[in-house]
Amino acid sequence: MNSTEEYEKRIPEWSDWHWQIQNRIMDTETLSKWLPISSQEIHDISQVLKIFRMAVTPYYLSLINPNDPHDPIRMQCIPSLQETVPCPHDLLDPLNEDGDSPVPHIVHRYPDRVLFLVTMECSEYCRHCTRRRMVGEEDVAISDQELDTACDYIRSHEDIRDVLISGGDPLTLSTERLETIIRKLRAISHVDIIRIGTRVPVVMPMRIDEELLSMLKKYQPIWINTHFNHPNELTPYSERACQAIADAGIPLGNQTVLLKGINDSTPIMKEMMLKLVHNRVRPYYLYQCDLSRGISHFRTNVETGVSIIHDLQGYISGFAVPKFVIDAPGGGGKVPICYDYVVSHDEHEVVMENYAGKIYHYPEPQHQ
Ligand SMILES: *Cc1c(COP(=O)(O)O)cnc(C)c1O
Ligand code: SF4
Repeated sequence: MNSTEEYEKRIPEWSDWHWQIQNRIMDTETLSKWLPISSQEIHDISQVLKIFRMAVTPYYLSLINPNDPHDPIRMQCIPSLQETVPCPHDLLDPLNEDGDSPVPHIVHRYPDRVLFLVTMECSEYCRHCTRRRMVGEEDVAISDQELDTACDYIRSHEDIRDVLISGGDPLTLSTERLETIIRKLRAISHVDIIRIGTRVPVVMPMRIDEELLSMLKKYQPIWINTHFNHPNELTPYSERACQAIADAGIPLGNQTVLLKGINDSTPIMKEMMLKLVHNRVRPYYLYQCDLSRGISHFRTNVETGVSIIHDLQGYISGFAVPKFVIDAPGGGGKVPICYDYVVSHDEHEVVMENYAGKIYHYPEPQHQ
């Protein structure tokens, strides 16, 4: 198989994101042209495709090591028969986003911010996606009328100061369409922060072009959150994309999902977090895997996440350590779960453990 660099030399359109999205690999026949797969795998993948869709950009597929059946990129984008195995805890809408949706496309759960789902389309369908109930069914984006309704809702709720544009992947929209959405939000005076949640820097980094960045720069303050899950995803292409975003003055955060067999170990997480901060991406959240349908094989014990963060805290720069959270099933929002460094605490003192496990005492003030 060829590396990404070789494909780039052979395929003139390689660095054109429109070509990447138009040439997404969506069926087993095309897949077998790109990647050596056995007839058993073709059979298994076909079973999954009856329930869940597949789409992978040629770029992301080129990162797979074809000789490794447990390749972390492969496991994130190529369907596995395990997706068809139902689990008793599986939920169609694990975060009750539909229940917290006052108007179509808006999820209003927290006092000062909303999630705004502007498209159901992604450039790659992650096998571990939380929103598979709506993502990967049909590539539909918000209509003009729905956009107006959503903006009316935000305009009439003055407490909303932060709008998180997500989906699907908002950066699969044309720059022009995205600008229409952002311009409307920017025209609402109480909207302060506009955030974009996107996996594009990881799966289609050529989308981060000058046209997009110069458009976004007009509507500051804009923040971008991306979704790297493994150090192998940090390639010269994705690193360039992240650095271009940072150079445009847009702070960049990263949300990682803890995935069994992919990134559930301290050395892998440490390597990724250090690579992210090297590229000026601030690790933001590490998510415990949700209860979406057909993804239970990716779930680790909660303890795994707690101990990975404990292994990082204190050993690497503080800003390279994300917050480990469980997005509470039923719509409770993100709950931080962390190692308890407090050994005991009474009115006289706190007894605490430091990062390396040594015990320290801090006396409480006695004049109260
Ligand atoms: C994650 C999320 C947000 C943003 O939460 P932050 O903790 O501010 O990043 C907002 N609304 C919903 C519904 C969310 O799931
Ligand atoms: S990019 Fe996000 S919304 Fe799209 S499939 Fe992946 S996790 Fe789901």
